Amino acid sequence: MVVPAWQAEEFIVCCPGCLTLETLWFKGKTMQPTRKFEQKEGGLVYHDCGLTDRPCRLYLRFGKGS
Ligand SMILES: [Zn+2]
Repeated sequence: MVVPAWQAEEFIVCCPGCLTLETLWFKGKTMQPTRKFEQKEGGLVYHDCGLTDRPCRLYLRFGKGS
């Protein structure tokens, strides 16, 4: 099993336009690139559905532990 050198965190992203839910990985505050979501200035994440100009909401899926 390969353990990445960086600590990735898993977030649930919720688009306020189409209400889709997806899982995204972040390295620190940087989103790992995906086809459907784009991270813009200020760290906000936007869905590519074009149904809303508002950023997606992010929920941390797992706690960091102790
Ligand atoms: Zn959407």
